Amino acid sequence: MIMKKLLITIDGPAGAGKTTVSRTLADRLGYRYIDTGALYRGVAYEVKSQGVNPKSETELADLCRRLQLGFKTEAKGLRLYSGETDISDRIRTPEISMLASSVSAIAVVREYLLDVQRDIGHRKEAVFEGRDMGTVVFPAADVKFFLNASLTTRALRRYEELKSESDQSLDTVEKDMQRRDTNDSTRSLAPLKPADDAIVIDSNDLSVQEVVDRMLSYIFAKG
Ligand code: C5P
Repeated sequence: MIMKKLLITIDGPAGAGKTTVSRTLADRLGYRYIDTGALYRGVAYEVKSQGVNPKSETELADLCRRLQLGFKTEAKGLRLYSGETDISDRIRTPEISMLASSVSAIAVVREYLLDVQRDIGHRKEAVFEGRDMGTVVFPAADVKFFLNASLTTRALRRYEELKSESDQSLDTVEKDMQRRDTNDSTRSLAPLKPADDAIVIDSNDLSVQEVVDRMLSYIFAKG
């Protein structure tokens, strides 16, 4: 039984199992689950649909001033809205993945989303999933996890996930993932890395349930 209201962060590379784990953990705790990658994908989606130059800081700054990205919890789960439009089903394509990774290296985009994320987090009782949750967005989070797995395992998981909607080969999925890993971990702003006080969990040989159980034992020890 948790007594305190906690803010929990889960960072890690693409395909490490963060989404399923974060969602399951949030359910178990009765907390909100916040997928911050969806926000970066939302920016990328609007960049594409509004014809914004993703390399221009000025154009991106203009876009961010206009944007109204936010989550709503509905019967279908957590939905991402841009203004009045539910864009959740439009942000999961390989093209948007790569564009999200490239716009996420731009300062104005990170600054805009920093405010959006902190605003959602101030009530605590949430599990935030992302790349820089424990390092930059919520450095004072109560419990921080970093979920990892080998590139081969992560690529295979993502390939299985995408198989029904995309004709990308396993090899292409793995190469895309490696490119995103490199982008995300070598950028100068908020690079992907575990916070000094993060608990690192390798999910290679663990089921979702085993990862969640391990996390719960740390959380209960804290709460
Ligand atoms: O987690 P997901 O794969 O949906 O994230 C898409 C992209 O958004 C990542 O490759 C990363 O570049 C960016 N991102 C980020 N910081 C976060 C979450 C996602 O830079 N907190």
